[in-house]
Amino acid sequence: MSAAIVREMAKYNETYTAHPPATTRFRDFPNEKAILILTCMDPRSNAYEFWNIGFGPGVLRNAGGRATEDALRSMRALSVFMANGKNTLGAVVVIHHKDCGLHHGPNFSDDFVRNKLAERVPERADEARKLWVGSFGDDVAASVREDMVIIMNDPWLPKDLDVLGYVHDSQTGKTEEVLLWNDKSPPKGQL
Ligand SMILES: [Zn+2]
Repeated sequence: MSAAIVREMAKYNETYTAHPPATTRFRDFPNEKAILILTCMDPRSNAYEFWNIGFGPGVLRNAGGRATEDALRSMRALSVFMANGKNTLGAVVVIHHKDCGLHHGPNFSDDFVRNKLAERVPERADEARKLWVGSFGDDVAASVREDMVIIMNDPWLPKDLDVLGYVHDSQTGKTEEVLLWNDKSPPKGQL
């Protein structure tokens, strides 16, 4: 059933390509430092919409908008391959949102997910119970800070990278900046 829904959605592509949008080849991207936004895969957490972003910043989305190893992989790659290596990554913005599916609750905790996966694959239950899921508590700003610190401490990213954080309220659409430190250059590795 889900596959049929996807194929139905993909039919729009015929309409879309009837009048292709103006586009830029990768090698012609502007010679500016890249900005990358890391946010949740939740459809409400749409930075293009709530910040009215046009062509430019990339948006990386995963469950919770967490700074996972794979998110870091994308940041590292982007930091060297923009515009054939001329550019680098200027800023990463971590945005977590309220009412997120990864918010701790009676149902959605790391343990809930681990246990369900263990039930699904009982022969690998021990492995499932060690998986990192990345759920967070009531203090959404705390999880934003946690990920900001992970990104700031990544040894492979540019030393002058700006790392910013925001909490997005899914109900009102409002975003509020999260500062690590009053001083905008916090000591690395400290919350
Ligand atoms: Zn979410």
